[in-house]
Amino acid sequence: MKAADLQYAACAEPAEAVGRLAAAEGMAKVCAGTQSLGPMMNLRLAQPALLLDVSRMPALTRAGLRDGRFVTGAALTHARVEDGEGAAPSRGLLPQVAAGIAYRAVRNRGTLGGSLAHADPAADWVSTACLLDAGIHVLGPRGARRVAATDFFLAAFTTALADDELIVEIDWPVLSPQARWAYRKQCRKPGEFAEAMVAIWTDPAQAIARLVIGALDGAPAVVSGAAEVAALRERAGQTALFDAIGLTDPYRRQLQSVMLARAFAQLDARPGPETTP
Ligand SMILES: Cc1cc2nc3c(=O)[nH]c(=O)nc-3n(C[C@H](O)[C@H](O)[C@H](O)COP(=O)(O)OP(=O)(O)OC[C@H]3O[C@@H](n4cnc5c(N)ncnc54)[C@H](O)[C@@H]3O)c2cc1C
Repeated sequence: MKAADLQYAACAEPAEAVGRLAAAEGMAKVCAGTQSLGPMMNLRLAQPALLLDVSRMPALTRAGLRDGRFVTGAALTHARVEDGEGAAPSRGLLPQVAAGIAYRAVRNRGTLGGSLAHADPAADWVSTACLLDAGIHVLGPRGARRVAATDFFLAAFTTALADDELIVEIDWPVLSPQARWAYRKQCRKPGEFAEAMVAIWTDPAQAIARLVIGALDGAPAVVSGAAEVAALRERAGQTALFDAIGLTDPYRRQLQSVMLARAFAQLDARPGPETTP
């Protein structure tokens, strides 16, 4: 099948996209890489009357440091991150996450903002944004706001984004030299969405210990605090620990349990904190 008839407009500025979204009263959709929206339109699960392309806006395609955070435009592609954007601020985490998304053709088009707005529970940026406590900057007719990633994802494919709002930027922490991270996921085949996913970020110097279990039925489960993360390490082999997050299927519990153990092993294998001579 092919998409239903629609109008297409490439927007030059965030304000233009927001104005057109509001004027369309729910009949328009933003598109970026179209890697998720395109198939949905072809299947006629989505039938917007107007497609507003934000993928070439300068304001949405840049990346850099600002006020001590690493800020990426929403339309930054996975490929640009894979190729090094954010490598230093994230101490290699963001490029590794990007490189594990689908295959290069998808990564050339797919964007961070599109992935977050689509909010597939198995999406890599959804879990990574929750792990790193990223901020999602949204612009709408009622103004601009920053939503913490953990408040942004409400359920599978459901976010705090209104129909007339646009994700403009995402701000990420700059990881310190003491930070360590681990990111493990299980995919049935290379290039497929994950069936299980665990990520960890620790930084004792800044009292940070966060762990995310992703690829669940809804938003990722976030565990925060050194004692809480240590407790999970103790129980990594016990599938019963997934009761608390409502994961009941024995196969998926087992997979997540293995990811948990592998993520802690990856964390432990990382070099120790850098010291300045
Ligand atoms: C074969 C295949 C395999 C994949 N495997 C993975 C995988 O392993 N891991 C993974 O994480 N992802 C995977 N993906 C998804 C991929 O990462 C997509 O890029 C992503 O889900 C959507 O990004 P996009 O830029 O293409 O968004 P689009 O498809 O253009 O849009 C998706 C949704 O986001 C909205 N949107 C887009 N940009 C904005 C914005 N700035 N503000 C507000 N709303 C916006 C659109 O209106 C739409 O609702 C896969 C996709 C394919 C086709």
